[in-house]
Amino acid sequence: MKPILSVKDLQVVFSGFKALKGVTLEVGDREIVTIIGPNGAGKSTLLDAIVSKSPVAAGKVYFQGKNITNKNPYEIARMGIGRKFQNPNVYNELTVFENLLLSLKGDHGIFDSITAKLTKKKRDKIIDVLEIIGLLNYAATPVASLSHGQKQWVEIGMVIAQDPTLVLLDEPTAGMTPEETHATGEIIKSLAQNHSVVAIEHDMEFVKQIAERIIVLHQGEKLAEGSVQEIQNNPQVIEVYLGR
Ligand code: ADP
Ligand code: MG
Repeated sequence: MKPILSVKDLQVVFSGFKALKGVTLEVGDREIVTIIGPNGAGKSTLLDAIVSKSPVAAGKVYFQGKNITNKNPYEIARMGIGRKFQNPNVYNELTVFENLLLSLKGDHGIFDSITAKLTKKKRDKIIDVLEIIGLLNYAATPVASLSHGQKQWVEIGMVIAQDPTLVLLDEPTAGMTPEETHATGEIIKSLAQNHSVVAIEHDMEFVKQIAERIIVLHQGEKLAEGSVQEIQNNPQVIEVYLGR
């Protein structure tokens, strides 16, 4: 199987400090890969480097066979990599529907989006996204009155409204209740019917719920990779997490 994403010996250096010391990984079509690791391991830096938010010092990133290393972030987004950041980035005064409308591919600027005719195609697309993120009943609700978890789902919706092939999620369950966390897992699983997903996560219950393959980062290096069971039984992983 040809991978969608292929990262080869990736290095990121911040003024002399090696945040990534040569990380290699692959993500398959419609696969869910979870990245875990202690604080400061380089997880966010890895996602940043894939989309050129952090400069790649050495190594390569290939997306659908094309070399995208250090390419312009907007170009990378246009090619089909969607990235959700840790902090919600939604328009609180607008409704859920309007937020999704704003993020549809091909729309430019807030006025164009809101004043343009709502075609059936756009409407159907937004309804699809609302179904995936479980907010069909909240379409007309201003984002300001949603819970923290629901806002995060709107953000995931804004990413998938752009039809990315690969979705990168940095701690999608941060600050969520256990119920919201579980619901997020179900959202990610339904996402993976049409997209490849890489998610950084801390909550091991959540990782078990969604993960097909886990990659463990530690001090800028890949410490281990495998199934939930393999990772849980890996002596090096146990040592890092339990400090033994
Ligand atoms: P994680 O997401 O695994 O918690 P990060 O990728 O955010 O870790 O950070 C990895 C390391 O790189 C940390 O030591 C962090 O302090 C450092 N780092 C991250 N971003 C920058 C930056 N922009 N400038 C300098 N150091 C950074
Ligand atoms: Mg991080």
